[in-house]
Amino acid sequence: MQPLSTSVRTHNLSLMESEQYDVLVIGGGVTGAGVALDAVARGYKVALVEKVDFASGTSSKSTKLVHGGIRYLPNFDFALVHEALVERGTLLRNAPYLVKPVGFVLPLYEGDRHPVGLPFSTPGGIGLGLIMDIGLWMYDLMAGMFAGSRGVKRHRRLSRNKVMELAPSLVTEKLKEGFIYYDAQTNDARLTLALIRTAAQFGATIANYAEVTSFVTENGKVTGAHVLDQLGNQEITVRARHIVNATGVFSEHIEELAGYEPQVQVKPSKGVHLVFSCEDVKLGNDAVVLPETDDRRILFLVPWESRAIFGTTDTGSGDLDHPTATQEDISYLLNHLKRYLSVQLTEDNIISVYAGYRPLLSARGGDSTAKLSRTHAVLQSPSGLVTIVGGKLTTYRRMAQDTVDVLSRRDGSTPIHPTLNLPLQGSAGWLAKQRDVEIKGLALGLNPQTIQHLRHYGSEALGLLKLIEEDAELGRRLIDDLPYIRAEVIYACRHEMAMTPYDVLARRTSIMLEDRQRGLGVLDDVVSLMANEHNWSSEQQQLMSETFRSAVMQQLAVEQEQVIGSISIPPKKG
Ligand SMILES: Cc1cc2nc3c(=O)[nH]c(=O)nc-3n(C[C@H](O)[C@H](O)[C@H](O)COP(=O)(O)OP(=O)(O)OC[C@H]3O[C@@H](n4cnc5c(N)ncnc54)[C@H](O)[C@@H]3O)c2cc1C
Repeated sequence: MQPLSTSVRTHNLSLMESEQYDVLVIGGGVTGAGVALDAVARGYKVALVEKVDFASGTSSKSTKLVHGGIRYLPNFDFALVHEALVERGTLLRNAPYLVKPVGFVLPLYEGDRHPVGLPFSTPGGIGLGLIMDIGLWMYDLMAGMFAGSRGVKRHRRLSRNKVMELAPSLVTEKLKEGFIYYDAQTNDARLTLALIRTAAQFGATIANYAEVTSFVTENGKVTGAHVLDQLGNQEITVRARHIVNATGVFSEHIEELAGYEPQVQVKPSKGVHLVFSCEDVKLGNDAVVLPETDDRRILFLVPWESRAIFGTTDTGSGDLDHPTATQEDISYLLNHLKRYLSVQLTEDNIISVYAGYRPLLSARGGDSTAKLSRTHAVLQSPSGLVTIVGGKLTTYRRMAQDTVDVLSRRDGSTPIHPTLNLPLQGSAGWLAKQRDVEIKGLALGLNPQTIQHLRHYGSEALGLLKLIEEDAELGRRLIDDLPYIRAEVIYACRHEMAMTPYDVLARRTSIMLEDRQRGLGVLDDVVSLMANEHNWSSEQQQLMSETFRSAVMQQLAVEQEQVIGSISIPPKKG
């Protein structure tokens, strides 16, 4: 049986009830997944529970950048930039199929005063180009010195004409010059899944749709947790020597459950992205940085999968379980895009919208969230609960390492750091197998866009191709203009613990972001493919369809109440 097949989930929940664990990790976002992998790789017996699906929280709502963060440089936040650049290099090495370098065109305009959030200006903006150049040299130097370049090129200063050539959509009036610098990008949900799968391969016992509702305490110390199986509607008790709270914006709540005043203060900060077609925003292979917003931030327009994503905002809190974009969020983004791009854009060009909450550590005294540091903290409660919070997607490995170091020290052992050189599942032999995937994919008649897309599975793509060898129908696309194929739905059930259509459409694939209909047009196909794998009755299939449909309709209703153009909803079948 595969470690993450759907039938394994039930098995894992019974195991969790009967076994005693060294470490229980609460939360299946990138941080929790990283902690589970780090702990199991050091030899701990590990269980992980996630209340919804892996990466269903912030870890599927990011800008998907694996970056040092140039905007932290003007704040002289060198420690953070350095840490993130080191991790960028580590990820490029350990997950080469999931993380790739990308260029960022950064234009400078006459009248710019605080590009990239520069806290000071110069008379008439004279010398700003030189200051930016020095900053980018430092960025490259930090990356090269501490992490090795790993295929990420050094920045270049660009003439006005070159900026126009690389970013043809930019407004040219008052354009002076620019730069191209390099960072990396990933698929955040699939990165989280790769960590979960690697941890499972090492022997971690993992379940999604399993929510910690309360703790078992003995002499004031947490020794276990009551976990509600959301799909089986039953409660189990999981016992562990160490319990790690990796629940992002929910960290304070989990600390409260342990019966003590929370050590951590999280200040959730909402970030919204808009998704466009690359043609509509004339985006090529390089991303574009909008260097200065009204509130001295920067915005990114990034080619991602088959689309362009644009964001992000940085505002206050709300319903943490259901982050939603407001009219102000959407207008803020659209207005800045229109200011910097010469293409005609209206709300109708928006393909989809997504929102998420950053788990920022709160600064005493109410600092603006844009300025709050993205660094992380590992905190120990008097109950023994260990909470890891803050950080970024990019720094998940370091966060996990620091957390498990605390557990090692508690156990009196010297910390070791196995994840520094631990290839994630799909990475081993990827460079050699990449060619096999291409040759086999072409022989099976797959479209080049689909073959290119299958790199998200690394060497595991060969497993997907095997499914198509057995049943050619599985090589058919789910949606004509997107690369996803039917085999991925089967694969998600057999190897990636996909339990609901939402899991497949929002996280195993990114159809909900890339498709104007948010997956509603392929819902019936997806449910019927999943039904075979899960042995769903027709009533269960209907329930799954209805649940997905009503969740999407609710989301669309909120967005359409805002400013987004209407989409045509496919009729229900049957
Ligand atoms: C708009 C935006 C853009 C960003 N862009 C970037 C970027 O480009 N690059 C970058 O490096 N970082 C970026 N980040 C930051 C990054 O996305 C986050 O730091 C990271 O995803 C947080 O992961 P996490 O695992 O800590 O939290 P989450 O992903 O939220 O995971 C916490 C999990 O805990 C689960 N949980 C909660 N309560 C319970 C319970 N009782 N029982 C079981 N499970 C529970 C939740 O369901 C959730 O899945 C961005 C963030 C935002 C919001």
